[in-house]
This record gives sequence, structure tokens and C-alpha cells, in this order.
Amino acid sequence: SGKFFVGGNWKCNGTKDSISKLISDLNSAKLEPDVDVVVAPPFVYIDQVKNSITDRIEISAQNSWVGKGGAFTGEISVEQLKDLGSKWVILGHSERRHVIGEKDEFIGKKAAYALSEGLGVIACIGELLEEREAGKTFDVLFQQLKAYADVVPSWDNIVIAYEPVWAIGTGKVASPEQAQEVHVALRDWLKNNVSAEVASKTRIIYGGSVNGANSSELAKKEDIDGFLVGGASLKGPEFATIVNSVT
Ligand code: 13P
Repeated sequence: SGKFFVGGNWKCNGTKDSISKLISDLNSAKLEPDVDVVVAPPFVYIDQVKNSITDRIEISAQNSWVGKGGAFTGEISVEQLKDLGSKWVILGHSERRHVIGEKDEFIGKKAAYALSEGLGVIACIGELLEEREAGKTFDVLFQQLKAYADVVPSWDNIVIAYEPVWAIGTGKVASPEQAQEVHVALRDWLKNNVSAEVASKTRIIYGGSVNGANSSELAKKEDIDGFLVGGASLKGPEFATIVNSVT
């Protein structure tokens, strides 16, 4: 459902020099035309990336402030991100939930605000290993999804990223069957709680230890509409391989 979508989440990595090398690799890579390709640099490098990367690749931020800018020390506003040429923002990433402590309601508000200002939102959700082992995977995911659904003005500009926390940065990728099972459940939830149209149109992408060697098996699954890639997105040729695993 929808165009295949591959995002590279660079997290808190890179220097001007390493990013310049990564961009030149991405600019010379052959990318399948029928894929939306997005990279998310750290805020401070967005300008550098926007000014040197091919227009073929869109830019995302990794977070945004919950409302208009002003007296919010250390924050970056949606308006500033748009000013620098960002089209997207990643929200609700597991590192922000579990390392920084962001909660569902706050994340939902950020999503609603970013969408209302015209940014696309890569809305992340994911269960912890202990939650999966306790049989709570779907409860956790549906609660996180509901926090977005309760407040977003529309689903036109949202991509859902399912990123099981146990798979992020661990080398333990979800099996294609595990990911497909969750994506189907998320689509069913959207169908029952939002609409059949939103369920069929909204892209649900997978993240967590995706690399150039496992992406094509995952991409074969009907409900996996793309990837959010961390570590492997820092290597241009490997990221291109993942983009090109579209089936
Ligand atoms: P890794 O691909 O490094 O596991 O990270 C996934 C991720 O968190 C993308 O947002």
C-alpha cells in the first residue's frame, strides 16, 4: 500500500566531513525511482545536507518542538525545520521515549502540531523485549498508535514506523513473519478505529537492525511498505541497497 518509503535515521552521528562523504556517496548511488527516500541528519547538519544532496532525496528532522518557537531553550521549532528545507520529522522514536522519557501524549501533540504546519510525520511505535515476552506487544502498540490517532488532523502525511525496541541497534532484526504479523495488526487497528481508507493507504514501515543483507526478505512481505534504517544508513552504498530492495 502506497509508495515504498525508506528513511535513514542518522541519529546523533556524523561530522561535517563524514556527512560530506556520505552525501557524495548518496548522490552518486543509483536509486530505484519508485521509492520515497528520506534522510534524517542531526539538526545542526540539516542545512549542509539540504544544500548538497540531490533533490531526489528528502530531508527529515529527528524531533521537533511541540508548538510555535519562542522561549524554549535548546528546542527547534517546526517553522525552523521548514525554513531549512525539511519535509519530514521523526517523532516518538524509542530513544526519545525510553532514553529521554517522552510520553505518548506529548508525542501525539508534537505530531498534531507538525502536521498542522505541513510537515510529514514519521510516527514511531515499538514494544520493549519484556513487553513482548509478557504477551503485551499489541496492547503497547495499540496504545501508542491511539495516542497519535486521538489528535492528528488527518493521516495523509503520516508514515507509521514499527520499530521493536529489542531490534534497534542490536543486530537482532525481526523476522519477516514477526514484522508482517505486527503490520497486519496495526492495519486492522487503523481499519477498526480510523477508517478502511486510512488503513489501506497509510504506509507502515519497519525499523530495527535493517541492513543490506536482510532488507529484501523483509520487503517481500505484503504489509511492509518500507524501512527506517539506523546504523546501515550511515553507509551510502548499503543504504542504496536497502532502498533498492523494493519489490
Ligand atoms: P538500527 O537500524 O541501527 O537498528 O536503528 C533503527 C532505528 O532506530 C531507526 O530509527
